[in-house]
Amino acid sequence: MSLYMIKENLDSVKQNIEKACSLCGRAAESVKLIAVSKTKPVEDIEQAYAYGCRDFGENKVQELVEKYEKMPKDIRWHMIGHLQRNKVKYIVDKVYLIHSVDSVRLAEEISKEAVKKNLTVSVLVEVNVAGEESKFGTSSDEALHMVEEIAKLPGIRVKGLMTIAPFVENAEENRLYFAKLKQIYVDIIQKNIDNVCMEELSMGMTGDYEVAITEGATYVRVGTGIFGERHYSTV
Ligand SMILES: *Cc1c(COP(=O)(O)O)cnc(C)c1O
Repeated sequence: MSLYMIKENLDSVKQNIEKACSLCGRAAESVKLIAVSKTKPVEDIEQAYAYGCRDFGENKVQELVEKYEKMPKDIRWHMIGHLQRNKVKYIVDKVYLIHSVDSVRLAEEISKEAVKKNLTVSVLVEVNVAGEESKFGTSSDEALHMVEEIAKLPGIRVKGLMTIAPFVENAEENRLYFAKLKQIYVDIIQKNIDNVCMEELSMGMTGDYEVAITEGATYVRVGTGIFGERHYSTV
C-alpha cells in the first residue's frame, strides 16, 4: 500500500479511538492500538513503524518469525492467531503477548518452553463469547477455570482476556459480546487469583473497535483499517 494511505489510515483510526474514548469518558492512552500486519509485506510494516506504531499483530508463527528477524527490535509482536503446541518454541522469546491461549495444554507447552529459556511469557486467554463453532477459544463458562489452571504454571502470566467477535454488518450487534467479556474479566479480578494480573481486554477489529472501546477494550486489533484489504495469494 502507498505510504500516503497508511499514514492517512493510521491518523483516522487514532482519531476514531480518541472519539470513542471521549464518548465513554476514558483517557485515549488507556487504549493501545495493535496494527495487524498479517499477509502484508515488511515495507508496509516499515511505513507504520515510521509513523510511530510499535505494536504489530500476526497470526502465523512462520510469518511472525520472518518479520521479527527483519524489523527493529523495539517492536512488540502480538501473536493473535491459533497457536499449535509444536510451534510454541519458535516464538516464546520473540512475542510480547500471546492473545490466543485456548487450552491448558497449550499453556503447559508455553510454560515448559518459557522455563527452558528462563522467561516469563505474558498471555491472554481467548474466550469464544459468542459460542461460534468456527472459532477457537474457551467457552465463557470455562474461562475462570482455565485462568486458575494456567496461573499454577511457572514461566507464564495471565494478563487478561481476548475475544474475536462475530463478523457482522452492524458493529452494535457485537456490543453484548464485548460487555460479556468485560463481565468475565471483572469476575476473575474479584477472585484475586495468585499470579494472575488481569489488566488487558483485547477486543475489537476494523469493523467494531469503537464499540469494543466503549465496552472497555484496552487493546484493539486493526488490520484492514490500517493496511487495506488482505489478498490471500495461493502461491
Ligand atoms: C486478522 C485479525 C484481526 C484484524 O482484522 P481486521 O478486520 O482486518 O481489522 C484482528 N484480530 C485477529 C485475531 C485477526 O486474526
